Amino acid sequence: MDEICLDENEFAMASLQNFLQHFSTEKECLQAFPAVCRACGLLNESDERSFVCTKCKTKTWRTANTYCHGLRKLLPTFAWIWLIEDRATMSINKFARIFDIPYADAWGTNAKVKAVLEEEMNKHDVFEVVSKIFDDSICKRTIQSSAGKHARYEEDEDQELDLEDLEVMDSDQKLVYAELKSQPIDFDVLYQRSGLSIAKFGAALAMLDMNELVQQHAGNKFSLKKTAPTTNVSSAEMDTIRRFHVHTRKAFHGVSRKYLQRYLAAFWTRWGVHRWSKQTLLKTIMKYARPSRAEILAYHSPQRLRIPISCSY
Ligand SMILES: [Zn+2]
Repeated sequence: MDEICLDENEFAMASLQNFLQHFSTEKECLQAFPAVCRACGLLNESDERSFVCTKCKTKTWRTANTYCHGLRKLLPTFAWIWLIEDRATMSINKFARIFDIPYADAWGTNAKVKAVLEEEMNKHDVFEVVSKIFDDSICKRTIQSSAGKHARYEEDEDQELDLEDLEVMDSDQKLVYAELKSQPIDFDVLYQRSGLSIAKFGAALAMLDMNELVQQHAGNKFSLKKTAPTTNVSSAEMDTIRRFHVHTRKAFHGVSRKYLQRYLAAFWTRWGVHRWSKQTLLKTIMKYARPSRAEILAYHSPQRLRIPISCSY
């Protein structure tokens, strides 16, 4: 049998076509919320958003206390969740055009779903790193960025760690730096973990030493000069971070510092979980309260980012 290879766009469109076969109208989306009376629990027959129970006469809103509580249009949110579950990538622009909704609404749909994904991710195994390790991904400006400044300066204000340290690091140095811990590590172990050639490793270590980021100890051991949570990162975890870098560069051309944690949650959904079978993501999301637009805009990724333990392709 011939294997059919679709590019990202074709795949997303195919996924959407498939979605529309299941949910083509608001009424079909509503079917995901059974018409169960909130007072007596009787399953009523209704295809309306709200109904009056035939037995006890109580009025029930089917989407009450779900993610879709008070959401006027169900279809775009359902579709966006479907695409995420399918691991399809679509631009917000295109999505807005297809569903004939304002860009701001499509943007909100995406941001709100991501907020919930972050909550869901936090229930699973995550580790924390200081966000500066993500500098490579932070190249998209956000509205907070002042003109002429690189986006990553956004975190200067409340950043206790000296970001200048990282300004001077090249990618080799960052790899070595990421393996350093507050406890001294043997030169050989550090070298192997870095994955670099001995020449590159030696040069990187020397530069870190020159910049007073590394402390040398007796017996050719090295530790971090500053104790920072950033660097307690294993090579497997570093691998996750590398994949995230590749993914974000490809899919989003970098991400903003402000929403970095949420991109990580989306990344986790896409690459880290293998348990989303059809419509389980929808069911999971429905258990959460939908954040308000104000909450989304006020959000700022924490200094210590949470990353899922293992993400693999
Ligand atoms: Zn009832």
